[in-house]
Amino acid sequence: MTTDSASPESSRLTDGFHLVVDALRANGVDTIYGIVGIPITDLARVAQASGIRYIGFRQETSAGNAAAAAGFLTRRPGVCLTTSGPGFLNGLPAIANATTNCFPMIQISGSGNRALVDLQRGDYQDLDQLSAARPFVKAAYRIARIEDIGRGIARAIRTAVSGRPGGVYLDIPGDVLGQAMDAAAAAQTVWRVVDPAPRQLPAPEALDRALALLARAQRPLIVLGKGAAYAQADDVIRKFVEATGIPFLPMSMAKGLLPDSHPQSAAAARSLAISRADTVLLVGARLNWLLGHGASPQWSADAAFIQADIATSEFDSNQPIAAPLAGDIGSVMSALLAGAVQRPITAPAEWVGELAERRSRNDAKMRQRLAENPHPMRFYNALGAIRSVLQDNPDVYVVNEGANALDLARNVIDMAEPRHRLDTGTWGVMGIGMGYAIAVAVETGKPVVAIEGDSAFGFSGMEVETLCRYRLPVTVVILNNGGVYRGDEAPPGGDPAPTVLNARAHHELIAEAFGGKGYHVTTPAELCSALTEAIASGGPSIIDCELDPAAGVESGHLANLNPTSAAAKPAGVSAGA
Ligand code: ADP
Repeated sequence: MTTDSASPESSRLTDGFHLVVDALRANGVDTIYGIVGIPITDLARVAQASGIRYIGFRQETSAGNAAAAAGFLTRRPGVCLTTSGPGFLNGLPAIANATTNCFPMIQISGSGNRALVDLQRGDYQDLDQLSAARPFVKAAYRIARIEDIGRGIARAIRTAVSGRPGGVYLDIPGDVLGQAMDAAAAAQTVWRVVDPAPRQLPAPEALDRALALLARAQRPLIVLGKGAAYAQADDVIRKFVEATGIPFLPMSMAKGLLPDSHPQSAAAARSLAISRADTVLLVGARLNWLLGHGASPQWSADAAFIQADIATSEFDSNQPIAAPLAGDIGSVMSALLAGAVQRPITAPAEWVGELAERRSRNDAKMRQRLAENPHPMRFYNALGAIRSVLQDNPDVYVVNEGANALDLARNVIDMAEPRHRLDTGTWGVMGIGMGYAIAVAVETGKPVVAIEGDSAFGFSGMEVETLCRYRLPVTVVILNNGGVYRGDEAPPGGDPAPTVLNARAHHELIAEAFGGKGYHVTTPAELCSALTEAIASGGPSIIDCELDPAAGVESGHLANLNPTSAAAKPAGVSAGA
């Protein structure tokens, strides 16, 4: 309990600000991402004075995205601090996205006076924040009196990380932060949550069911999702994959859980693996749109699904789950490994060979594509250069967003380490770039390369100032084709077409404005040398990578999700879908 000179008048009193910080520290929170303002400015000051690292942003969504990324990387809830009203609302997209992605985070927001807000008497930035947050989060709580601060923080931490992780909104009215109470009594109200995310062991009969299916599979496949990456059960997952010889397919944020160069990776034979597999073990991956809902014709109509997940309500959400495995990934995979070795379970050689053949054919095609050197540069050529630099720097973390910039980088950039790739996730949301990159640099201290479409970058671009202020080792590579999807659409009238941005923009000057380093490159060779130098510098930089405005396709790989227009497109539209 802090009763130093910053505490209220009496040395025997403390206040809500100090008590929040004491409760966070008691639970191991060492970093807060946020933006100050009424009524939480002093909360940030007290936190910083107590030794908690406070990272101040320029827009709350990025602060929230940073907290979410911190949660994914550490398995502890990332904490985001927002002001009342609009500041709180700016945080909501991030906490909603965190909840969708199953990342643990807590948004702590100051709020207005209840007596004024609830009678709608017109207070400063008044909003019923608790009700507004509820639809978007795993849980929303309000602390209504100082005595409940310790309990409120404990409850938020427990809810955020236990079971399926998600976002928790914690509302603290400004007057509660300002309340005083006896320091000794206050100390009794704070506790450390014991075992915040308890292991959950699968039932023996559920394991038998799953093992029996795997034992008779002719074409088994393991799909690793970001839940598997989050679980930090890397060793047992690798042992299971290697002991059984079953081919695996990593979802984008599970890349690197086993290296993409692993001989059992089916990533380069993805469509064949999916369409031919007869038994599929899903490990922390949902059968949502990213996996075509597990439906034919993408998947074989009679494929049997085994699903390991901590959230039992996930089972049967899209397809019948023949063998549900409820439990945490570490416990489930340990038990499966023991059973697989005992039986033993081995992938049939014919199936392994079929995938290997397709994989080597596709690898050759990719090599050919990356070797081309057209001018102006196109996505593949820029990504080929980034790929070669990252192969020499395998400890670099990758953040990736955009349409073409995302779809193509996911395939071209191999990952060798777990949890080293963070991207647009389950929603495919734009704007996570700078928030994620900042959190990765802060939490790991390692270099980060953010591969950004020029449009995607714009959603969080002002956070380059944050990168520079904290001198973070982040290189932002902007694949600049001057548009949303592409930059060459001709407008029907005087204004630019809806998809068009500025292909001649020099984004690198944004870094220079704030004391970072800027590069403008037009060839793969220039990109290689700029990126190598930028990573080695250990500081913030932007590489504006000038691409052909005609490079890229509308909606990247998701063109099929666009409803087709009954009316003809206006003349001059050239963007290919
Ligand atoms: P991807 O998009 O990579 O396919 P998803 O986000 O769809 O992955 O799936 C992640 C799944 O992992 C969610 O259903 C979530 O409940 C589950 N999950 C998250 N953490 C754990 C854990 N520690 N143990 C088991 N399942 C987990």
